Amino acid sequence: MSFKSLGLSEEIARAVSERGYTEPTPIQAQAIPVILKGGDLMGGAQTGTGKTAGFTLPLLQRLMEKPISGQPSPQSSPASGRGGEREKHSSIRAPIRALVLTPTRELAAQVEESVRLYGKYLPLKSMMMFGGVNINPQIKQLHGRVDILVATPGRLLDHLQQKTVDLSHVEILVLDEADRMLDMGFIRDIKRVLAVLPKQRQNLLFSATFSDEIKLLADGLLNNPALIEV
Ligand code: AMP
Repeated sequence: MSFKSLGLSEEIARAVSERGYTEPTPIQAQAIPVILKGGDLMGGAQTGTGKTAGFTLPLLQRLMEKPISGQPSPQSSPASGRGGEREKHSSIRAPIRALVLTPTRELAAQVEESVRLYGKYLPLKSMMMFGGVNINPQIKQLHGRVDILVATPGRLLDHLQQKTVDLSHVEILVLDEADRMLDMGFIRDIKRVLAVLPKQRQNLLFSATFSDEIKLLADGLLNNPALIEV
């Protein structure tokens, strides 16, 4: 099985092949078609299974395929191949379209690196955001274009409270290592973030374990999800 046969574009398949992957891992083979169709997903997967590419690759593709919500002209879509178009119109602020929440800064950095790597041939911009560092460079970066934001919940909440981030156009939400986020006490932060997201969106939840607490979170979050366990 090839990455292209899962429905991924030439640009994404090329980036993956340059990374040295020849075949999708089991979680990728199962998750990629579900996510490409726009469905919600509950994925049971440990690190090391290839879950990062499992959600990153189809997420990139969805953003390329879907028109940008709230944008007036189809010509301003990056899918037209002119990703810089919107930046020229400074009055139109490009929206954050995908949000990935991770429990730690290390994981945020790892996921954002994957986004950049697999999206190297796409006109999409990503940003990572975590606490323990000066907030000002993050605020500055948020003034520019960010299509995909990879963040830890605490710092994201700081930005929400300071109104330095706008999540009102998020189309895809990923909770990565959700069990660890709950273990670390992020549930209230996560709920506060969820409250400001648009109701209509695609939700992907990954967790190594399925405790009652995770199931409760999933119940409130996911819409008729595909269940994938590897
Ligand atoms: P993850 O579970 O996302 O942390 O990925 C674990 C490791 O597997 C990472 O080093 C990836 O670069 C690698 N990996 C992901 N997908 C594949 C693949 N299809 N073939 C080979 N290695 C992969």
